[in-house]
Amino acid sequence: MLTLCLTHPICLQHAGPLEHPERPERLAAVLKLLDHGYFDEMGREEAPMGRREDILLAHTEEHLRLIEGTSPEDSMEMLDADTFMVPASFEAAMRAVGAATRAVDAVMLREVDNAFCAVRPPGHHAEGDRAMGFCLFNSIAIAAEYARETYGAERVAVVDFDVHHGNGTQNIFWSDADLYYGSTHQMPLFPGSGELSETGQGNIFNAPLRAGDGSEHFREAFDSRILPSLDAFEPDLVLISAGFDAHAADPLGSVELHEEDFAWATLKLMEIADRHADNRVISMMEGGYDIAALASSVGVHIQALMRGTGTGDIPNYEDL
Ligand SMILES: [Zn+2]
Repeated sequence: MLTLCLTHPICLQHAGPLEHPERPERLAAVLKLLDHGYFDEMGREEAPMGRREDILLAHTEEHLRLIEGTSPEDSMEMLDADTFMVPASFEAAMRAVGAATRAVDAVMLREVDNAFCAVRPPGHHAEGDRAMGFCLFNSIAIAAEYARETYGAERVAVVDFDVHHGNGTQNIFWSDADLYYGSTHQMPLFPGSGELSETGQGNIFNAPLRAGDGSEHFREAFDSRILPSLDAFEPDLVLISAGFDAHAADPLGSVELHEEDFAWATLKLMEIADRHADNRVISMMEGGYDIAALASSVGVHIQALMRGTGTGDIPNYEDL
């Protein structure tokens, strides 16, 4: 069982306004944790640049031109109240897309069993024609479309356990019954979408949680709504929008999960990938704004992807 981790140093240069929660220290902490010997068996690659033609599988040409055209040379541009671009941002977003499509290549060509993309900016709020919620390009939706276009994947699923609803992925998948989107998220909360009644072509499965919900409600939502619908969809590739801001320590959400809940969800998704998708799983980092909780949660998530083949004890970020 080999897990590949894709990242790029430019993703640490995408730095917005002071006090902005989506900050470079998030990724720096994750990479510090992944330097621990436990993860020695994991494969590592630098993320290539994303290709324009791949971005256009999920976004309009106007959107790509707008992001490229907004890219500042020496200042900061705000695309909305909380979505920023600095000089490094365009390349960081392109590397996030490149990580996603390279992960698809590696998994579809059986070079590895699964992959984790340790990148930022995140992507799941970016709709086909607009950036929002810290997201410029929807890397995971691009990965899904790329897997179909390049490898003939017929049914691609995205499961999203970020505390925020992935309105962008839902938007891009809405009219296509061969793409599945399942999400647990807090409501009410940004971006406001994600009701049970939002079902697309019967391919969208929202499972909203309430502020204060913890492990029990989260697992119940997975067991009753996400996992049965995903199993029935019979995906030939399982993608995970892995946001860790449903952690109890997170400052942006009020769901009360802990590391073991993320490990549990990961293993459940891997069971379904085993059953239908020849084990093919790709996980993309989305949110998670408490630095220590994010790093430790990514650690157990990757431990699950590696099926416990790491060496020694799984590290805790606070002990590093
Ligand atoms: Zn989030």
